[in-house]
Amino acid sequence: MKKDIHLSDLISDSSMVDDYDPNAMSVENTKAWIANFLNPIDQKETIHIKDALNRIVAEPIIATMNVPNHDNSAMDGYAINIDLLTDHGPFKLKVTGKLFAGNALDGNIEGAVRIMTGATIPSGLNAVIPQEHVELYEGVITFKTKPLTNQNIRRTGEDIKRGQTVFQNGRSLEPCDLGLLASLGIDSIKVYRKIKVAFFSTGDEIISLGKSLLPGQVYDSNRYSLIGLLKRLDVNMLDLGVIPDDKKAIEDTLLKASNIADIVVTTGGVSVGEADYMKDILKKIGEILFWKISMKPGKPLAYGKIGQCHYFGLPGNPVSTMVTFYQFVREAILTLSGQTPIPKIPLIKAKLLGPIKKIPGRTEFQRGVYEQDDQGTFKVNPLKDQGSGILRSMSEANCFILLHEDLAHLEKDMWVDIQLFDSLF
Ligand code: AMP
Ligand code: MG
Repeated sequence: MKKDIHLSDLISDSSMVDDYDPNAMSVENTKAWIANFLNPIDQKETIHIKDALNRIVAEPIIATMNVPNHDNSAMDGYAINIDLLTDHGPFKLKVTGKLFAGNALDGNIEGAVRIMTGATIPSGLNAVIPQEHVELYEGVITFKTKPLTNQNIRRTGEDIKRGQTVFQNGRSLEPCDLGLLASLGIDSIKVYRKIKVAFFSTGDEIISLGKSLLPGQVYDSNRYSLIGLLKRLDVNMLDLGVIPDDKKAIEDTLLKASNIADIVVTTGGVSVGEADYMKDILKKIGEILFWKISMKPGKPLAYGKIGQCHYFGLPGNPVSTMVTFYQFVREAILTLSGQTPIPKIPLIKAKLLGPIKKIPGRTEFQRGVYEQDDQGTFKVNPLKDQGSGILRSMSEANCFILLHEDLAHLEKDMWVDIQLFDSLF
């Protein structure tokens, strides 16, 4: 693939690029081409860490303190100086003080100090013996084994050292990261602003909820699947409804969307019978490529730009919409959001519980139900109904069976790759 090529070059003369054929694009090649046109956003905002889950770090976080910031006890027990012990036990030491977390003891310590978890180790002491390992009698502890230096002591900076880079740019913040930031005393951070995604459904036969259906009409399900998919990605959503197959209406809506969003996603109107229609509109207001992807479901895909806004035209069949979203739009959103690296969807090996019919030359995303047996082996049952219009297959399934391009028919007990729906977000 040729890097740094402009969308307009590809549109005007694609013959100059070797491995580019809009009529036969592999899934991986398509992803690579789209990635070529995506520039992560650079607008930042400052937010409180309690709002920062799943947000993307936009300025490296450097620790300005040690965590912990004092040597402290990892156990409830007795702090001692092992340098004062003879070589062989049993040892006897008088208890000369008591320390709770949050208190400190100054001055020269003799003998042993009763110490609680988290309390600062007094200077001069260098080990903590757990209380279970001593016998206490009349203010004197007896123990048999000599502890090692720093045993049961949490050292200053052992969690995080002052000056250490805690998070690089591009980190998507996890629940533990919020706690980690708090442990450093950081209450607000710079993150990239959220990506704005506008979307609408197209089709004369597509009807919004709340209206009754005439013969030949279907309810708009795609927009609701999309809402679910986009919610998981934590973007700002702009729902533009259903637009009939009307050139003027689609053009107006696309222009409006491109002015307010980073990405606009439409469903329907990119299949062979309808593509020319969308092509005319997009040629007029932007730049557009129409691809036939060697995948099932989800063959047609349109990608382009309207001004600075990225455009994705997904096929209208409900399963195709979801599969093409997972494969292409998800990664584009993550890339634009500034996240690095982009997490790959994990592939898991599973044993087929039934045969699968397939012809080589295209990647298939069949829907399956996996289970794990007592030994932990994944087994997967391909669902019977695999039509791209059968949305129930997505609901009944709990994974995609990813059948790579070169595979042909598969027999029961063969191993395949699956992608768990739980790992898709
Ligand atoms: P299209 O991609 O426009 O050719 O549509 C392919 C099939 O998907 C047709 O049967 C459409 O009725 C159906 N379809 C398109 N958009 C939607 C939608 N938003 N909700 C449900 N079905 C749809
Ligand atoms: Mg249509």
